[in-house]
Amino acid sequence: EAGMRLNKYIANSGICSRRDADIYITAGNVRVNGEVITEMGYKVKLTDEVKFDGRRITPEKKEYVLLNKPSGFFVTGSLEKNNRTVMDLIANASNAKLDPIGKLDTSTTGLLLFTNDGTLAKNLGNSKKLIRQIYHVELNKNLAQEDLEKIRESAILLEDGKVLVDDISYVENQPKRQVGLELKSTKPHVVQRLFKKLGYDIVKLDRVVYGGLTKKDLPKGRFRHLTKQEVINLG
Ligand code: URA
Repeated sequence: EAGMRLNKYIANSGICSRRDADIYITAGNVRVNGEVITEMGYKVKLTDEVKFDGRRITPEKKEYVLLNKPSGFFVTGSLEKNNRTVMDLIANASNAKLDPIGKLDTSTTGLLLFTNDGTLAKNLGNSKKLIRQIYHVELNKNLAQEDLEKIRESAILLEDGKVLVDDISYVENQPKRQVGLELKSTKPHVVQRLFKKLGYDIVKLDRVVYGGLTKKDLPKGRFRHLTKQEVINLG
């Protein structure tokens, strides 16, 4: 018969794992169309109303959308109505309500991930699971070798702590105003503040790597859905 097993339905709703769902079902926490159901293999039909501890639940498909953000688009729902936001750019990506993971400054370009997967969003956003990020940075003047070394040694202390840097190097065959910077920080405006502290202004900031994701085949202003494997890789 068609329908989704009750334990899967509950797990997909984001309440708990399928195994824990079995326990709750057996314990009588789950009602279908008003009736307590204790059979974990019960097949839920599309029209069924499922309640967990009295609260209506529905399984939502988890979606993951990667945007190559252009400059000039706000990441937060901005206060002034006329501001263009990244939400405008992913409006056609999904019927689900997707939220960006973390923030990019309005002038920053590059990779920004959106999802309705609250668990992942929380883990990646609040530094529980630190995500590798590589930025291509263009400064207002050449970066002195000694400043590059300081940054590489994670010796730069901001108000909210040390900036832990995994790698920094000059961009090959380019003026020394251009560097590649790898870190896992979730501190707000961390790259801006890092260079500001040493007396440099940022002219261009581009996030070129996020987790294992790159801008390959993703033109500026465009988005794509992650593959199953890419989602698994994000952890
Ligand atoms: N660090 C910044 O300062 N700005 C960004 O947009 C991202 C990282």
